[in-house]
Amino acid sequence: NEALKNLKELGVEYQSINFGAFMFEVARNDNIVKDRDQMRTLDRAVQKRLQQRAAQAIAKISGNVLIDTHASVKTPKGYLAGLPEWVLREIMPDIIVLVETDDDQILMRRLTDETRSRDKEGARSIAEHQQFNRSIAAAYAMMTGCTIKMNTNADFLLDHSTAELVEVLR
Ligand code: AMP
Ligand code: MG
Repeated sequence: NEALKNLKELGVEYQSINFGAFMFEVARNDNIVKDRDQMRTLDRAVQKRLQQRAAQAIAKISGNVLIDTHASVKTPKGYLAGLPEWVLREIMPDIIVLVETDDDQILMRRLTDETRSRDKEGARSIAEHQQFNRSIAAAYAMMTGCTIKMNTNADFLLDHSTAELVEVLR
């Protein structure tokens, strides 16, 4: 949000939205889940249906949209693409900013996050997930012609990450 304020001063307007929130709204109304962290354990077909509905709703928003989402979701049956072909066709991103950080930092953040039910997995497994996200981001670039910008959201360096984000969005 700090980033968006800076952009506004530059005369660039973005509407900031969260993909998971769109999915959760439908899932909660249908009484499928009680919290957003339950969604990634749902049956694959159900997750994909929620995903598609979210993509369709987001595609209707006009103007610049900044989507907070997951390059891939770790499900009990393996990684689920966050932006499969039918989602990309709806959204057609210009830029994908891949936000990463040190595996141990992610581990610590999850352990200390009392607001959510985060995955309990080790740094090795987090590293594998981050690697997979890079790979699948390359596929997204191939499918859409979008650019991929790597962004590091390191502990105590949020301002740096934000400043980089502003640079690619301006
Ligand atoms: P978040 O609040 O950003 O952590 O997202 C909450 C949940 O929404 C994630 O754990 C996923 O279950 C789901 N989600 C977010 N983005 C996507 C996506 N592109 N495709 C499928 N599921 C997603
Ligand atoms: Mg999130």
